[in-house]
Amino acid sequence: MEAVHELRTRLMDDRPRAFPPGQTRECPACGNCALESRNDLIRETIVGAMALVHHHLHGARCQHCGSEFLEAYEDLALEEARPEDRLADYEAKVTNVSGRNLGTYWPKDVVRVMELSNQDALEVQILDPDTMIVRRKGKTEE
Ligand SMILES: [Zn+2]
Repeated sequence: MEAVHELRTRLMDDRPRAFPPGQTRECPACGNCALESRNDLIRETIVGAMALVHHHLHGARCQHCGSEFLEAYEDLALEEARPEDRLADYEAKVTNVSGRNLGTYWPKDVVRVMELSNQDALEVQILDPDTMIVRRKGKTEE
């Protein structure tokens, strides 16, 4: 997250704002001169069942039609902050265990953090073709 913040700051320093504070411009969406500079825009990025909310974004909002426009550096930083990239704490490879069975060796840090042991039961929830959540069945449930 810090890296994304630094990227945004660097981009912000590099270029002037398209919507400078205190200025009102013509709105590209409705044509009214009601496009007002804002520092409080909000965007949500969603991955699977989770939503990340980004506050205090720079841009402009039209007081007439409500259209919002982000500064280019905000768009770039949001793109860089895509949750799919940030959620990966560990990497594990799918390998051929025996015959046509596939298996995964968990990195030792995963084993330690999750306190996994032989014969633990895992629940797998598929969110989309690229995303799954693996949850160890709680010991209290058994
Ligand atoms: Zn408008």
